[in-house]
Amino acid sequence: MTAKTTASGVPYDAQGDMADKDRRDAAMKGFVREFGAVAAAHLEACVRCGMCAEACHFYVATGEPAYTPINKLQPFEQAYHRHAGPFAPIYRLFGVVPSVTLEKLEEWERLIFDACTLCGRCTLACPMGIDIAELIKKARHGMFKAGLIPDRLQLMDRTARAWGSPATPADDFADIVREVGEEHGVDIKVDRERADYLVTVAPAELTEHTKALADAAKIFNKAGLDWTYHSEGFEASNIGYLNGDTELQEKMTRKIIDCAVKIGAHTLVLPECGHAYGAARWEAARWYNDKLPVRVIHMTEFLQEVVASGKIKVKPVGQTASFHDPCQLVRRGGVMNAPRDVMAALGLEMRELENNRALTWCCGGGGGVVSNTRADPIRYKAFELKKREVEAAGADRFVTACGQCRITLDLGAKHTKWDRKIENLLELVADNLAD
Ligand code: SF4
Ligand code: SF4
Repeated sequence: MTAKTTASGVPYDAQGDMADKDRRDAAMKGFVREFGAVAAAHLEACVRCGMCAEACHFYVATGEPAYTPINKLQPFEQAYHRHAGPFAPIYRLFGVVPSVTLEKLEEWERLIFDACTLCGRCTLACPMGIDIAELIKKARHGMFKAGLIPDRLQLMDRTARAWGSPATPADDFADIVREVGEEHGVDIKVDRERADYLVTVAPAELTEHTKALADAAKIFNKAGLDWTYHSEGFEASNIGYLNGDTELQEKMTRKIIDCAVKIGAHTLVLPECGHAYGAARWEAARWYNDKLPVRVIHMTEFLQEVVASGKIKVKPVGQTASFHDPCQLVRRGGVMNAPRDVMAALGLEMRELENNRALTWCCGGGGGVVSNTRADPIRYKAFELKKREVEAAGADRFVTACGQCRITLDLGAKHTKWDRKIENLLELVADNLAD
């Protein structure tokens, strides 16, 4: 891996030792594979109205025209018109649409990896219904094939391939969760041969936020459910989904879903992680003949179920609270009411942020951005939008339901010396279980 700079001074990373022509060709081949009927319809539909610009937190926070969503699609769109659109042969013959150069791709890397969280707010704003976030995700597939992604993401990719998780080798998983159980005095079930619920985790829960493992166990035990964590299928975060590495995405997805099927689980519970929900709930079916073999739900949906059914009871907290809606769970995933129902059960009076539910501003760290330190400066600028809204709402507590959002918000708070605790819904429920 080598950190480099383009002739115009834009930093980029490149992996592998491909010749320039091969690297460019690999990207074009990757893009062309993505130009199916839906992508083509979207790429043909843009009327250049500019309405997506004001929807993007990176553009709004910086005012830089380069960060408008439609600009982030430009090389992908150019490749489409030159190689796959209905007039491609004519465009090529008369040189109407030039080839996308390698230097352009190198400059583009920071726009689609550092300055896009795949949050989908631009998609919501587009009057033509163009799914810009999805197109950027497709463009990442071609960039991955060309070895043009941030080194930090590539490192996580390699670790996840080797270990089955970017956080820990699968061989260590059972020991880690048992230790966490002992530390918190909770009976943690792991590697059971059969269970109704397979519970999965996110990397932060295996490193700095291990209490979440104990919190989930506490709630499952209290509800009297038949459940387990499992070394063969524990990692729900999907670095392949973020990096454009579709082969790894499928492998990571199959690990958890196949494990759930193997142990006879009727439900796979995803951790408090937004993109895990996108990968396993909405994209996994394509590897199972369009029908998931097991019910897949987010931890927040599980909490709503056990609270609503009376399987667990919670003590009222009795304060005001604001909720940060994680983009992949709420805007892209449609889970809007579940967190609010659980917070209401906790007796928290909701003080909504100005942009809430589907309109939520992204935390600024989704789509792999928080793991990519090169993006820190613009991530901190985007964080200011959220900080202003939280201060304006003036609630006692600030809650979210995604570990990555929490890490991003924690980092933003630390950077700006903002004395504000960011809490996760799972932890709030576990800490307030009634007897
Ligand atoms: S998906 Fe989100 S971050 Fe990416 S361009 Fe659209 S609004 Fe901006
Ligand atoms: S809002 Fe839609 S149609 Fe308008 S510029 Fe953006 S992508 Fe194109």
